[in-house]
Amino acid sequence: MDVDLREQVRRRAAGCCEYCHLPEAHVMTPFQLEHVVARQHLGGDTPGNLAYACLRCNLHKGPNLAGIDPKTKKLTKLFNPRRHKWDRHFRWVGALLAGKTAVGRTTIEVLAMNDPNRVALREELIRQGLL
Ligand SMILES: [Zn+2]
Repeated sequence: MDVDLREQVRRRAAGCCEYCHLPEAHVMTPFQLEHVVARQHLGGDTPGNLAYACLRCNLHKGPNLAGIDPKTKKLTKLFNPRRHKWDRHFRWVGALLAGKTAVGRTTIEVLAMNDPNRVALREELIRQGLL
């Protein structure tokens, strides 16, 4: 993908993962341009379909558009950074992410956003005053 498009998406996201809000400045692995709607579901390579994502969020999301809400067990759409406001769906409880809505809960589950290694990284960044 072209450098200008990557920079445009990175700048729009202020250098943070648009799903878990991890700042790229504090991790070794480069962030990726993530297709909110995967190519296999006819999503395009346009800024309106791209999100800046950390490797773990991107790998766990894959081509998924939905998942099962762990609370209601109902099929639920995933968080869409181009259409949804992050604060409406997620909140922090220390280093843990909590879902305020079905969309938030489902996205946390599918993207494994509270994986112990990821929580440990956030705890360390909080301890260092970086998050
Ligand atoms: Zn992330």
